[in-house]
Amino acid sequence: VKVTLGRRLEDSPWARRQFGALVGLNGAGLLLLVVAWHVTAHQALLGKQLGWLSVGVVAVLVAAAADVRWLAAGRHALLVRRREVLADQPAVAASSPRSVTSTTDWVQVPGGTRAHRPGCLLIVGKDVRTVQPARLRKAGRRLRPCEVCTR
Ligand SMILES: [Zn+2]
Repeated sequence: VKVTLGRRLEDSPWARRQFGALVGLNGAGLLLLVVAWHVTAHQALLGKQLGWLSVGVVAVLVAAAADVRWLAAGRHALLVRRREVLADQPAVAASSPRSVTSTTDWVQVPGGTRAHRPGCLLIVGKDVRTVQPARLRKAGRRLRPCEVCTR
């Protein structure tokens, strides 16, 4: 199931309407803030300044809420996209020819510092060689189990 949240900006996790809301609310917040500052600056009495000070505070809060919502929407879109990419990946890995098929084996990209399980996403399409478990235990810091495929 593909989740569509409206037309995307090019190479961006955000939809066009989300970008429009961000610019609009930040623009409105800035405009309100400038108006509140300008009016307050021309009031001599504290009592008359407080109302416009409140308007300025609300303007900052509106802009901040828009920014937080923008970041949360981007984070959500990235999580959705990551789930889609990772869900697609096993089909690619299964279709590529493998010399190592056992799930108890370890493999290594020559020159690399990580030992991977044969199905690891980080070695898809790369030439790998088998690593003996005993060699992996002895290697210490020079060759460690991959943090991605051993999770
Ligand atoms: Zn790995």
